[in-house]
Amino acid sequence: MSVLALARAEIRALTPYSSARMEASGGQVLLNANESPWAPAAELELNRYPDPQPPRLRAALAALYGVEPAQLLMGRGSDEAIDLLLRAFCRAGEDAILISPPTFGMYAVAAAVQGAAVLKAPLDAQFGLDAAALRAQLTPAVKLVFVCTPNNPSGALVPLALIDELAAELAGRALLVVDEAYLEFAGAPSAATLLARHENLVVLRTLSKAHALAGARVGVLLAGAEIVELLRRIMPPYPLPTASVDAALAVLQPAALAQTRERIAVVLQQRELLRAALSALPAVREVLPSAANFLCVRWRDAAGTYARLLAAGIVVRDVTRYPGLHDCLRISVGTPQENQQLLALLRGMAEAA
Ligand SMILES: *Cc1c(COP(=O)(O)O)cnc(C)c1O
Repeated sequence: MSVLALARAEIRALTPYSSARMEASGGQVLLNANESPWAPAAELELNRYPDPQPPRLRAALAALYGVEPAQLLMGRGSDEAIDLLLRAFCRAGEDAILISPPTFGMYAVAAAVQGAAVLKAPLDAQFGLDAAALRAQLTPAVKLVFVCTPNNPSGALVPLALIDELAAELAGRALLVVDEAYLEFAGAPSAATLLARHENLVVLRTLSKAHALAGARVGVLLAGAEIVELLRRIMPPYPLPTASVDAALAVLQPAALAQTRERIAVVLQQRELLRAALSALPAVREVLPSAANFLCVRWRDAAGTYARLLAAGIVVRDVTRYPGLHDCLRISVGTPQENQQLLALLRGMAEAA
């Protein structure tokens, strides 16, 4: 059975929009797309529609993530990839996704938009993926199983061997979607190394976190070429703004990549320093182990701590609404100076109490 048999029939049958830029590339006098022939008055070279999937960026990202260009789809953040997967694979009112809370909120949001049900197999007591719970929740309606590793907001990494096992178990039934938004901070191999073994495996990467490009909205989906082509059919014709493509190409230059690696090393060193310092505070109950660029911290008074940090101008993420995290705040690792500022404030609060 082809993996495409899992997709919505109406998507497989869809004739995708064919844009001017798709129909003809190259040429000098471009009179085919109703564009302005002049660059804007602002002297920005933005009068032309962008390439739908710019080959140079595609090649650079394929090299970065160790896949073939045909296995890669670029979009507006991994958020767009999540949305495309829902729309292509889940029929409204019939199909479902399976998630492991507490986890990233966009999976359930995209499911709600599409009218797909959200089934839940909670993480285990240590916030590890609970494979038995996933198996127990799996029904024929489930088309997409989302695994976030390292998990946002709790921080734990899912072992690659378990991803391999789950992908094999789901073959012919559902796609396994592995969200690696924070993998750069984990020092672990990507599930993309398993793509050749599983045609139902999808991996999500992003330039928004380690590569510091959240404002450009560039995310990447890695999968078999047939899934990439299927999703392109329902994607808007020009998903990537020229300015974002230029920004992405700039951060993929060797010098920029070297700086990114240095910054990742600083984050890891600062994560350990923060973990140790926070663990020593009387206000802190527990710092959850993290393989990402944030720490999920249990507090004796999470709401009070959040409010006092905010009043001092330090904004952390309140994650108390997530199951199992009712006393937690999620703290991103900042610059060394920002982290010292945070710790000084928390120590001052401890003395005042
Ligand atoms: C931040 C984040 C993303 C989304 O990133 P984009 O900016 O849309 O690429 C995806 N998954 C998780 C778990 C995230 O935390």
